[in-house]
Amino acid sequence: MSQQQQRRAEAARGFMPPDEGLALHAAAESLSVPGPLLEVGSYCGKSSIYLGSAAQAAGRVLFALDHHRGSEENQAGWEYHEPDLVDDEIQKMDTLPHFRRTVHDADLEGTVVALVGDSPVVAAVWSIELALLFIDGGHGSEPAHRDYEGWVPHVAVGGLLCIHDVFPDPADGGRPPYEIYLRAIESGAFTEVAVTGSLRTLKRTATGI
Ligand code: SAH
Ligand code: MG
Repeated sequence: MSQQQQRRAEAARGFMPPDEGLALHAAAESLSVPGPLLEVGSYCGKSSIYLGSAAQAAGRVLFALDHHRGSEENQAGWEYHEPDLVDDEIQKMDTLPHFRRTVHDADLEGTVVALVGDSPVVAAVWSIELALLFIDGGHGSEPAHRDYEGWVPHVAVGGLLCIHDVFPDPADGGRPPYEIYLRAIESGAFTEVAVTGSLRTLKRTATGI
């Protein structure tokens, strides 16, 4: 990625440490099958730059899916709430304007396509094989497992599945991302190829999930 994009990614609001962002970027750069990339959970577009810059260089598209209303843990009173991201008139989070600005400033408007909606609603009508799927949406048990069930079957054989916030030790963080990581491994269809912080990168090596 260009130095300018890297600076933009580091400056963007969100939840992606630089080393994990660069690992995500490296995964997106390493793809060996054709097709677009898709991330579940874009927030203000931080991870979208790390993935989108690699997609741009390869002439691919990144679908950036988010309802932009925040996860449970982003709501008022929770740990990851940022009060200035609330639309005061309707008292709901709205990260979409920030996301758009991030994508614009990183020169990625020709590559990053926003899908604004609820993840299971979009997954239910999705039919495009993905070269890379990045799961970083709702981290509660139900949202995480729904994302697994709705999106993981769309990863192409030879494609990559990246999961964020995977914490094998419960003292480090919530369980659901770790649980869906285990589901992928136990399915027999995925092989781990990289570990950086809480980011896990798996390659789909077989069809059945
Ligand atoms: N990848 C981001 C952080 C994502 S935070 C970064 O690099 O900073 C998790 C995001 O998932 C939030 O923006 C939230 O709105 C979104 N999300 C949670 N549940 C969702 C759902 N059911 N459908 C769409 N987006 C969802
Ligand atoms: Mg995350």
